[in-house]
Amino acid sequence: GFKMGIVGLPNVGKSTLFNALTKTASAQAANFPFCTIEPNVGEVGVPDARLDKLAAIAQSKQIIPTRMTFVDIAGLVKGASKGEGLGNQFLANIREVDAIAHVLRCFEDGDVTHVDGRVDPVADADTIETELMLADLESIEKRRANLVRKLKGNDKEAQQQDRLLAAAQAMLEDGKPARLVEVDAEDQKAWTMLQLLTTKPVLYVCNVGESESVEGNAHSAKVAEMAAAQGNAHVIISAQIEEEISQLEPEEAQMFLDEMGLAEAGLDRLIRAGYELLHLETYFTVGPKEARAWTIRSGTAAPQAAGVIHGDFEKGFIRAETIAYDDYIACGGESGAKEAGKMRAEGKSYIVKDGDVMHFLFNT
Ligand code: GDP
Repeated sequence: GFKMGIVGLPNVGKSTLFNALTKTASAQAANFPFCTIEPNVGEVGVPDARLDKLAAIAQSKQIIPTRMTFVDIAGLVKGASKGEGLGNQFLANIREVDAIAHVLRCFEDGDVTHVDGRVDPVADADTIETELMLADLESIEKRRANLVRKLKGNDKEAQQQDRLLAAAQAMLEDGKPARLVEVDAEDQKAWTMLQLLTTKPVLYVCNVGESESVEGNAHSAKVAEMAAAQGNAHVIISAQIEEEISQLEPEEAQMFLDEMGLAEAGLDRLIRAGYELLHLETYFTVGPKEARAWTIRSGTAAPQAAGVIHGDFEKGFIRAETIAYDDYIACGGESGAKEAGKMRAEGKSYIVKDGDVMHFLFNT
């Protein structure tokens, strides 16, 4: 599955957001720095209205959404790369995630202490990016020193690693994150394996005040500008409201959203933004037993998409019977789609499309 790490300075609302996401009280929210010490891991179902519609048509007994993992990563403060605050433990946690959800304090509240005594999300973002860049530089220096012996032995893999590390190092020494390095297609895999912190895509989460979650505020507008300039994404959310919503029954939650003038819960937007940031897509398997959503990277071929369900599906892949989502709905289900000639037989090179309803045929 795919993992997003929630990072941010102390007291910006990480735990509050994490609580809302996972609807548990396991991550403590409290008004002082370093409250969440252990990384907290939570899985959430990815909301997708299409899945409910498919299930209604097929009269599926069970609805199983695809899942995304969130990790609440505490300990990022100025000086963290030098072992201040909670030290370097958080770095290992960040290395493992696919993307970073960077929570920025955009709410004014005199009762909640800001570590630097003022609300300035762009400066906060810079503080954290700087720590991540310093951490990357340090790990690159160590790794390159470790490669010296292998390089003398003319090791091809070591040469590739060193070349990529050197490119990242030059970028970082220039004060820029490693994600700005242009990487050739044939280097892409080795580049990802380096797990540099500043190559992870970033979703800025603007945590705004309760009344500001529709339009945002002056702080979130500045973050939006910064995110666009960096090629990163942003969402506007009120963590506190989301936490309140997460405790309501679905019907009450909808009434609450209507009252606030919100089309949907901010968390749904957040999860979807994470999905987009990672270039993820969803396909469905639909039957009377269950309707289920599965996550793939966009551009995934049918056998690898089948492999998400089970490795055997990929190994023994024969073909896939495929109905586009819109056709499935328009034809009132599988048999209607079949009659209308909208069920296609697709082979190994078929690139699965977002919303496809798939049925895989395979050898065992
Ligand atoms: P963390 O240290 O980043 O995990 O921050 P927490 O989630 O523990 O929040 C720190 C404090 O800020 C808590 O007292 C929260 O209740 C408060 N807080 C979080 N989000 C909001 C918000 O959107 N508005 C206001 N006014 N307070 C918030």
